[in-house]
Amino acid sequence: MSAMAAGTENAAPEFRAAGTDISERRRSGVSRGPIVDLAVTSGTIGIDWTADGSGRIGAFTTIAAIAADARIREAYPGIAAAAQGLATPQIRQMATLGGNLAQRSRCWYFRNPQIDCLKKGGSDCPARSGNHLYHAAFDIGPCVAPHPSTMAMALLAYDATVTTDRRSGLSIPDLLGDGSNGAADHLLAPGERIDAIAVPAPVVAERADYKRAIGRTYAEWPLVEVCARAVLSTGTVQRIHIAAGGIAPVPLRLTACEAALQGKPATAEIIAQAARLATSGAKPLPMTGYKLELLVGLVRDVVERIAT
Ligand SMILES: Cc1cc2nc3c(=O)[nH]c(=O)nc-3n(C[C@H](O)[C@H](O)[C@H](O)COP(=O)(O)OP(=O)(O)OC[C@H]3O[C@@H](n4cnc5c(N)ncnc54)[C@H](O)[C@@H]3O)c2cc1C
Repeated sequence: MSAMAAGTENAAPEFRAAGTDISERRRSGVSRGPIVDLAVTSGTIGIDWTADGSGRIGAFTTIAAIAADARIREAYPGIAAAAQGLATPQIRQMATLGGNLAQRSRCWYFRNPQIDCLKKGGSDCPARSGNHLYHAAFDIGPCVAPHPSTMAMALLAYDATVTTDRRSGLSIPDLLGDGSNGAADHLLAPGERIDAIAVPAPVVAERADYKRAIGRTYAEWPLVEVCARAVLSTGTVQRIHIAAGGIAPVPLRLTACEAALQGKPATAEIIAQAARLATSGAKPLPMTGYKLELLVGLVRDVVERIAT
């Protein structure tokens, strides 16, 4: 049996929520194992709030419902903006949060049923030596496809945690790993189901935003995307979280930028200097250096927007 055949004949069943990702892989033959249609159960759909103000979003909640929810928009504007910015109105209407977090790579080699890759049981990453124009600019793992989930990136900025039918309190890095496992898009065990996502209570006076750089207005994954949230007091940054997607096999926190802004006056000059540190740790591939310029620009734009 070839490596690719081994990878596509999944022994464990794959879930189908709204099917916007898996249906395409079924049609192409990349996914060929058994499917389990997920059914909505109590606690897996809708948005609840606890007494301390923290939110709990059921995995079956659609992206459109998250984007439109008035309390989410007020408490977690970066999450609402990310939900509003992804895919198309039609996809957002159908797609679930659980499916968004667990969606498979968009790499054109992975999606091609004729080509082996690490995620299909192959021994190497064909994008690395092939066409990787849309791939990682932080080459931190054997697979160079960027993680596709916009919601994972925004939830990383918010320190959200994931509850499955087996475990709770999983951070986004617990769920997705650190990029070193090129064979997987997430670290869920076979058959493990995401049930809900918890977001800590909103921080008083916090502002947040999300922005993406994209090759066309609609219907595309971003080249680079950034979500930032900050608390300012008399013009000084008291607290800041910045996350970025589209640049690495997992969404990344831009800790060097955060450190350069923490405790500093949010002037245009300091923001521009800090934004340049977004590339700390970057290791672009021959075709992905352009993403670093997009990243620096996005960080500067988003931080300026929330700081002024
Ligand atoms: C044109 C287009 C543009 C897009 N742009 C973006 C974008 O910019 N950003 C972005 O993030 N996404 C984007 N998407 C992807 C889209 O958001 C996902 O397809 C969608 O979120 C998947 O949700 P679903 O409910 O349809 O999942 P499904 O297709 O049903 O499932 C996807 C995968 O998740 C697993 N899964 C589903 N639910 C669960 C669960 N509860 N627990 C464990 N595993 C589960 C399934 O086993 C399957 O492998 C785009 C899609 C299209 C078609």
